[in-house]
This record gives sequence, structure tokens and C-alpha cells, in this order.
Amino acid sequence: MSSALPRILLIDDDRLQQRMAEEHFKRFKAAKYALDWAPTYEDGLERLLTGSYAACLLDYQLGGRDGLELIREAAAKGCQTPIVFLTAEQSEHIDIQAMNAGALDYLVKGEITPRVLERSLRYALKLGETLGELRRLATRDQLTGLLNRREFDRILTEECDRAVRFSRPVSLLVVDLDHFKRVNDVHGHQAGDAVLREAARRLAGQVRSVDRPTRFGGEEFAIVLMEMDRAQAMEVARRMCTSMSATPIEAAPGVFLNITMSVGVAVSPSEAKDTRSFVAAADRALYAAKAGGRNQAVAFGDLKD
Ligand code: GH3
Ligand code: MG
Ligand code: MG
Repeated sequence: MSSALPRILLIDDDRLQQRMAEEHFKRFKAAKYALDWAPTYEDGLERLLTGSYAACLLDYQLGGRDGLELIREAAAKGCQTPIVFLTAEQSEHIDIQAMNAGALDYLVKGEITPRVLERSLRYALKLGETLGELRRLATRDQLTGLLNRREFDRILTEECDRAVRFSRPVSLLVVDLDHFKRVNDVHGHQAGDAVLREAARRLAGQVRSVDRPTRFGGEEFAIVLMEMDRAQAMEVARRMCTSMSATPIEAAPGVFLNITMSVGVAVSPSEAKDTRSFVAAADRALYAAKAGGRNQAVAFGDLKD
């Protein structure tokens, strides 16, 4: 069935180009792809952003709109699909602009043969895969698969700025596993790792997909909750504590451990207007949660100085 083939999106306002591409595709030697066609900028962008294409062939001129602009807009909206740029004539200027905008290759329409196109797509797909893997390595924590500390810093800066600018609440949860050192000391480091992985999985299961839980470091996690005030964030935090403590975690075959965690909650912009004070506020709340007996969530706003 053709739906099993990798799908390539052609964004081009010229019906003739679509026919030609289709003919070229039939002559490919090694790889088979299904070709979809989007005749306008808007249609192309919308389809591209579905993320369901293995690669995209993009025309420079789209009925008066600029293909380069489309690459930039798609990238800004998180598109990671490899893009091969097509132009009517050879131009080093456009070639470089396309590359800078994020295109992986550049083809001149008059010079496209089935071989050239097949080769270009093969390289774009491979390079896209490699870039995806590098992106994953750069942004993810290896043990838990959660976003790493660097991503946390980036997300927090972005959301904190937004919270201040638009006076919209954003909450920060800092999570720390209780007496985690004991797990390592009694059951070994590998058991500790298994607990960390399962703890991360449980935390991720308690938040919306937009909330992007991160591994802050060691046995600490951090979650930025957009558009959530103190009461809402505390509800999430309490739910997390319950989910962690309710079911023992299998740290090693047959070894089930009761794991609990403590959470500090802070809200911006009301309690902090920059990332440093935001993290400090959540940390102070976390410290209070620990001091108060662990296995609980405490809000910075509820602390008495
Ligand atoms: P508290 O309730 O006060 O948080 O006590 P705790 O024992 O959890 O606190 P502490 O910060 O002293 O211990 C954290 C431990 O987490 C120490 C460190 O060995 C362990 N740890 C940090 N990263 C990893 C990791 O990647 N894997 C494993 N297995 N252990 C880790
Ligand atoms: Mg700790
Ligand atoms: Mg701890």
C-alpha cells in the first residue's frame, strides 16, 4: 500500500512541476516515496507543520510569496522536516540564503533529473535523521529521556519573560526525591538509576504534553507550568506526590521500594520577575517541604518569613 511509503511534500504553485516531480519519482532506482502536493504557501505550511513528511521540496516563488519566508516561519514553529529548496534559475545568492534559512539542499529546476532528485532526497533524509539525533542528544537527559538542564534554562527564560511581559501566571515546580541517597547506599547505583527512570516517567504522566518536564540534575526535576497560578500548580504538585508514593517502584527484580518526593512551588510574575529569583523561590519552598517532613508540596507564597 502506498501509505506505507515515506511521504514527500512538494510545495509549488505550478501544476506542471507537480506532474514532472511525479514522473521523476516513478523513475527512482533505489527508493520509493509517495508524493503529496501543496499549491500554496498556506496549504504547504499547514501540511509541513503536521510533521508527517519525511522531506519537503519547496519552490522559491509561491504565487508571489517567498519560499525562504516559509522555511523561516516553519522553523520558528518547530518544524524539523528536511527541506530541499527549488528555484527556477541558478543563483549563488539564493543558494546561500536557502542554506542559512535551514534548507538542506538546493536544486535548480531546469537541471533536475530523476537521478539528481533521488540523490538529493536521499541525502536530505539522511542528514535530517542525523540532525534529529544530534538535537535529541543535545536536549535530552540520557538516563530518563526528559529534557535536560540546558533546555530547562531555555524554557524557563522564555516563559518567565512571557509571564512578565503579558502579566500571565507561570508556575515552577522543583521536585526532589526524598532520602534518595539511601536507595543508592542500600541497593546500589543501578537500582537508583531504575528509580530515577520510573520517577521521571510518573512525573511526565502527571502533566500536560506542553509542560515539558526536565531533569534539573541528580535526583531533582523541574517543571514549568504555563498559565497556572499557585492553586493550580499546587494541585498538580500534590497529584505528583500521590502518584509517586502510591505505588512502590521496582528498583531491581523483586525489589520494591516506597519512594516519596518533595516539591517547591513558585509563581511568576507575582513572586519572581527573573529566572534566578524564580528558581530561588521554588528552592526555598522545597527546603520548607523537606523541613516539614518530606512527601509534600509547599508553595513559596504560603511561607511565613
Ligand atoms: P533529601 O530527602 O534531603 O533530598 O535526601 P537525599 O538523600 O535525596 O539527598 P542528597 O542530595 O543528599 O542525595 C542525592 C543523591 O542522589 C546523591 C547522589 O548519589 C544521587 N544521585 C544523583 N544523580 C544520580 C544518578 O544519576 N543516578 C543515581 N543512581 N544516583 C544519583
Ligand atoms: Mg537533591
Ligand atoms: Mg533528595
